[in-house]
Amino acid sequence: MSDELPVVLFFAAIGAVIGSFLNVCILRLPAEQSVVSPPSRCPKCGSGVKWYDNIPVLSWLILRGKCRHCQNPISIQYPIIELATALIWAWMALRFGHELEAVRGALFLTILLGIAMTDAREYIIPDEFSIGGLVIGLGFSLIWGLEGLKVAAIGAAVGFAVLWLIAWLGKHAFRKEAMGGGDIKMMAMVGAFVGWQGVFLTIFLGSVVGTIIFGPLALVGKKKDVPFGIFLALGAVVTFLWGDLVLNWYRGYLGNP
Ligand SMILES: [Zn+2]
Repeated sequence: MSDELPVVLFFAAIGAVIGSFLNVCILRLPAEQSVVSPPSRCPKCGSGVKWYDNIPVLSWLILRGKCRHCQNPISIQYPIIELATALIWAWMALRFGHELEAVRGALFLTILLGIAMTDAREYIIPDEFSIGGLVIGLGFSLIWGLEGLKVAAIGAAVGFAVLWLIAWLGKHAFRKEAMGGGDIKMMAMVGAFVGWQGVFLTIFLGSVVGTIIFGPLALVGKKKDVPFGIFLALGAVVTFLWGDLVLNWYRGYLGNP
């Protein structure tokens, strides 16, 4: 642990900074605004945020969640996302150590957090997360050489095809759009990270959790659009971290070797 601690803290710091950028992405990408300009400013009074007021988590605490100039409240979403991303990066460093695999896992979980947030807030999964994540997933698969790239490419193709098919069936069977293009591109990204078996496990887990949460709402007639990307994101996290365990258990359960 003592050897790992500097690496874990370093990853946590990087995660906090990336989480700060993720906040900007979550707010601006669904509105198709640039994530680089203009620089961060208070949404109430418009005054620019100085670097010393933009330190992840700490600044929000020091300012007690209020703008330095107009004293209007700053959403608690900012420090929560920063903290969550810092924890994701620290966790991946703990799990995978000083390896590229830790960076791969941290980026994957960070993108999934971004997708869950934009889907929850606006029912949108920005291409920057899905297509951008797909490129990152394919790139990092080269850790395992061309064989890794093959696995990732097949995973991406299967993720895209399966969700496209589900969307097509949903449209023709129920005459409503249950699944959007964002979900389809998202699962291509997920497939690049977890492979084709992981795609099916992700969809299965996402459907189970989604049904448990949204099923009762549908029964009492309060069903709104389901931000299915959130549940796919949850399923993808479980699949990425514990997918082998689940699949091995299932194979044992079936009595297969
Ligand atoms: Zn202000």
